[in-house]
Amino acid sequence: TQVYLNGEFLPPDQARVSVFDRGFIFGDGVYEVIPVFGGRLFRLSHHLARLDASLSAIRLRNPHTPMEWNDIFTRLLAAGSGDQSIYLQVTRGVAPRDHAFPPNITPTVFAYAQPLKYSPPEHLAQGVAAVTTADIRWQRCDIKAIALLANALLRQQAIDQGAAEAILVRDGVVTEGAASNIFIVKNGRLVTAPKGPFILPGITRDLVVEIAHAKGIPCDELPVKIEMLSSADEVWLTSSTKEILPITRIDGKPVGDGKPGPMHAKMFALYKEYKQAFIRG
Ligand code: PMP
Repeated sequence: TQVYLNGEFLPPDQARVSVFDRGFIFGDGVYEVIPVFGGRLFRLSHHLARLDASLSAIRLRNPHTPMEWNDIFTRLLAAGSGDQSIYLQVTRGVAPRDHAFPPNITPTVFAYAQPLKYSPPEHLAQGVAAVTTADIRWQRCDIKAIALLANALLRQQAIDQGAAEAILVRDGVVTEGAASNIFIVKNGRLVTAPKGPFILPGITRDLVVEIAHAKGIPCDELPVKIEMLSSADEVWLTSSTKEILPITRIDGKPVGDGKPGPMHAKMFALYKEYKQAFIRG
C-alpha cells in the first residue's frame, strides 16, 4: 500500500521528507481527515472548503484543484477495502530554518489512506468518560493546523485519568474536545459552541446541526457555559472518525442518568440514515 508525496505514489518507507521541512521544524502546515464510507468520500466538498480556509489562513496556495485531489484520493483508496479515511497534509515546504516565510518555496504535499477504525460498540452502548481541562491552545483553533502539541497533551491528560476525551474550557465556556466538537442536550434542545477562532468548524458538527434543522430538532449555536455542561441531560462528542459518541461521565460524575440518552439515539439513527443515503448515491 502506497502513500502520496509531492506528485509520487511510493511505499511508505521510500517516502522521504527533508529534516528542514517547515512542517517538521515549525509545525508550519495544515491537514484534513476525510472519512470514506462505501468507497465514497463523505462530505468531500466540505473538507476541501475547510482545507482552503486553513491554507488561506496560513497564506499558502492550495497546491491542487479539487479534481486533482480527487484523483490522488481515488488512487490511494484503490488499494484498500471497506470503510477508510484519507489523511492529507500540506506544509510550507523545505527551507533553511528561519521564522519568516522564504520566497519561492514549494509546499510539501503528503496523503495516505488507512482503514477506518470505528469506536468499539461498547462506546456507543455505554458512552465514554471525559474530563474537563483548561483550553491551553492558541487563538486560531479554527485553522486545522498540524501543530497539535496542546491537543496531544490534553488528550493524554484525559487518557491518564481513565477518560477518552478532554473537554476544553476557556473563560468558563466549553470550546470543544481535544479532537472533537461537543454538543449538550438540555430539555430537548441541542446546544453547541458557535463557530469562531476558538473551535475547529467540524464537518460532523455541521452535519449534526444540519440534520437537527432539517428534522425540526431545536439546535442552538451558543456559548456552552461550564454550568450548562454539568447540568446537561446528555453530552456528545462528534468527529469524522468517531461520528457521534455519547459522553456519560464527566470528571467522574454521571451525565444525566449516566446512560446514553434518547436524543443521542434519535440523532445517531438520523445520521446513519443520512450516511446510508449517501452510500447509495
Ligand atoms: N475539533 C478538533 C480540535 C479536531 O481535531 C476535530 C477532528 N479532527 C474535530 C473538532 C472534529 O472535526 P470533524 O468532524 O471535521 O472531524
